[in-house]
Amino acid sequence: MNHQQSEALFSAAKNVIPGGVNSPVRAFKSVGINPIFIEKAAGSKIYDADGNEYIDYVGSWGPMIMGHCHPKVVEAIQKTAASGASFGAPTARETQLAEMVSEAYPNIEKVRMVSSGTEATMSAIRLARGYTGRDKILKFDGCYHGHADSLLVKAGSGLATFGVPTSPGVPADFAKYTLTATYNDLDEVKQMVAANDKEIACIILEPIAGNMGCVPPVPGFLEGLRELCTQEGIVLIVDEVMTGFRVAFGGAQERFNVRGDLVCLGKIIGGGLPVGAFGGKKEIMDSLSPEGGVYQAGTLSGNPLAMSAGIATLNILKEEGFYQQLEEKSAYLEKGLLQVAGNSSVATCWQRVGAMFCTYFQQGPVNSFADALNSDTETFSKFFRNMLDNGINLAPSQFEAGFMSVAHSQEDLDKTIEAAEKSFAAL
Ligand SMILES: *Cc1c(COP(=O)(O)O)cnc(C)c1O
Repeated sequence: MNHQQSEALFSAAKNVIPGGVNSPVRAFKSVGINPIFIEKAAGSKIYDADGNEYIDYVGSWGPMIMGHCHPKVVEAIQKTAASGASFGAPTARETQLAEMVSEAYPNIEKVRMVSSGTEATMSAIRLARGYTGRDKILKFDGCYHGHADSLLVKAGSGLATFGVPTSPGVPADFAKYTLTATYNDLDEVKQMVAANDKEIACIILEPIAGNMGCVPPVPGFLEGLRELCTQEGIVLIVDEVMTGFRVAFGGAQERFNVRGDLVCLGKIIGGGLPVGAFGGKKEIMDSLSPEGGVYQAGTLSGNPLAMSAGIATLNILKEEGFYQQLEEKSAYLEKGLLQVAGNSSVATCWQRVGAMFCTYFQQGPVNSFADALNSDTETFSKFFRNMLDNGINLAPSQFEAGFMSVAHSQEDLDKTIEAAEKSFAAL
């Protein structure tokens, strides 16, 4: 496959953009090649600057659950743009999207819109601290919650890809307020909570960890955290930026029937535009300015274009059978991939929840970040490059999830399975 244009664009980008990219994992560094530059996309397909076509399982890292350029979303954005891109004043659309979110997540009584998942989690943590009057927070190794200072401690995702557990530039004085526990290890959390009695403001987690591949919660883990937080007056923050509207309309909380006190959303609710949101119990949310004292703001928060794209997206996700269709496609791919992986001598472990999944290059199972790190990332890289050569766009890291969209056709899935068979054979 010819990548001449992409190579030239990357060279030019590197002169003016650090690493040539505006978000680190886009650089393909861990898979040993230069990134492809994207020209356009439609449905399940993405096209690079050299005109190569790929079946896309990145989906902009989660948002494109209906595939790229869904006509209803495109129409909503165009119509809205014609009447003003931003006012910095309230609009009816913000209330409309807030009502839709609240309907899908019954524990979200009130919600505030922001412009990214990072802002959502950062603000939710500030709110939890303000509400409880406590400073410490507890997160899990390998869970990524955006790039705010106190959250870049053992944060999985891009950091795992590049082998940096905690980012330079985070003062030790900040990091000391961030406790990190092992994902799926409830006993360890209980010990940490006991050792930091009445000091922990919140426990934040991904209800399915999608920034170290795809790690579902073991039975009892979410329930145990819920009970512990209630007992100890700790705010449970469920970060559904990736899983929200992805694994069910009501996210992982609907799927596992465990509810957080605060919930973070992003990715899908923006339909591909920059949106995040955090919401939850009225009593906690009312601590936010101007109602309460916890400050949080944004010039472009609740942006009209983003709200329109979000509303158009959720209206389609709400339709009867949407998630059923997504599940059938994901299950079909799973069956085919398990078969070709099984025929290969390479050790792999497939993990999936609904329309998010990961193939770990190891025996598995993977229940924690330490487990994920046992993967053979060299072999993953080869597999990734083989798949790309065969027209399949996967996330360029072992520690990221793949995403199904409803636009993926039977033919796409068969082609993917065929490409995987060839890619395994070439390892
Ligand atoms: C992507 C992601 C974020 C950060 O969202 P951005 O919009 O990239 O800032 C936070 N939490 C989780 C679980 C994510 O997957």
